Amino acid sequence: MSPVIPLRLQPQDGGCADAPVLRERGQREVFCGLTGIIWLHRKIQDAFFLVVGSRTCAHLIQSAAGVMIFAEPRFATAIIDERDLAGLADANEELDRVVTRLLERRPDIKMLFLVGSCPSEVIKLDLSRAASRLSQRFNPSVRVLNYSGSGIETTFTQGEDACLASLVPELPPAPASSAPELMVVGTLADVVEDQFARVFNQLGIPVRFFPPRQANALPPVGAHTRYLLAQPFLADTARALEGRGAQRLPAPFPLGVEGTMAWLAAACDAFGVSRAQLEAVTAAARERAGAALARQRAQLENKRIFFFPDSQLEVPLARFLSREMGMQLVEVGTPYLHRQHLAEELTMLPAGTRLSEGQHVENQLDRCQAEQPDIVVCGLGLANPLEAQGLTTKWAIELVFTPIQGFDQAADLAELFSRPLTRRLKLAA
Ligand code: SF4
Repeated sequence: MSPVIPLRLQPQDGGCADAPVLRERGQREVFCGLTGIIWLHRKIQDAFFLVVGSRTCAHLIQSAAGVMIFAEPRFATAIIDERDLAGLADANEELDRVVTRLLERRPDIKMLFLVGSCPSEVIKLDLSRAASRLSQRFNPSVRVLNYSGSGIETTFTQGEDACLASLVPELPPAPASSAPELMVVGTLADVVEDQFARVFNQLGIPVRFFPPRQANALPPVGAHTRYLLAQPFLADTARALEGRGAQRLPAPFPLGVEGTMAWLAAACDAFGVSRAQLEAVTAAARERAGAALARQRAQLENKRIFFFPDSQLEVPLARFLSREMGMQLVEVGTPYLHRQHLAEELTMLPAGTRLSEGQHVENQLDRCQAEQPDIVVCGLGLANPLEAQGLTTKWAIELVFTPIQGFDQAADLAELFSRPLTRRLKLAA
């Protein structure tokens, strides 16, 4: 049976809330969840990520980290070698030895993540048992946690989801009598976090960010926690938070002026802050962003864009680019479409938008080539061949590394798309 379910291409009312989705199940071309270490280690500054993997895994995170060489790095790989794979050595003993040596040498580490990989899965190394064993041994100075970043189980943004979900049980319980507090969930660049913290402060909304910058500053969670997702790829984390009593505030994601405003408004509604106050607090930033976006819109309007499934950011990005930048959506592919978390986004997409979920590279390449869009958002592996065919591309991973949320970053976000188009025009001139 074909893995492709035919599309209904008729435009319909109410955005894409109930639109049919083309489900693709085929060959994938996406980084694995280890990639998340690159932005997570910058965020939680006293954490250390120890990948339990192969030389390939070590190579991936080193090359993804690019030029970021620290005197005291915050990630490393414990290599599983042939002897381990053949069951000739006790991988647990070896792991304990590596961790002990690391923690003796690095007393600054307060939280250690053992990150599973394809090889550790293949030899069925039980990292959760290893983590609880090592946690007991190094209690109370270091917490040892584990999650999987393996390419068998995760795509690159799911690594962050797995990491944060593993942290949720560590969050201290909020006292039952405490006042409601907002938690912003998902890694944001420090500059963006600082901006949002200022806005919430001006609105009088008490806020904590998860993950925190320091391992010992974990936000409390409980029935009075209301949380806003800052990233659309955190399904497991959300489930774990709800298991601790937290309630999600449904909202679009804070991309573009419209998305940021609606995201903040969801918090205002939950905390009894008036829209008039929200408008007053955000007026200057919205005005700045509006002027900067108008310049970008001139470059992007009516350009046709095609998204390959990669980061799970595709739906909010498509919404921003179509509604605020006037771009035409040829196809919006996403590795996983979370109907609930994306409900507000889907209603804002133009009716009839072609949505696809999952990956089947060959089918998607065929559709992309047939459509000849002005710009393609895709993974690194597809970008070069598509560029060689004359298509303009944008690497999806750059959108995860770059600060793009909030009013002050809206124009930077638009520029990430206008720059490659302008470069292509210059090359063609
Ligand atoms: Fe490759 Fe798997 Fe290691 Fe990721 S975890 S680098 S997919 S071997």
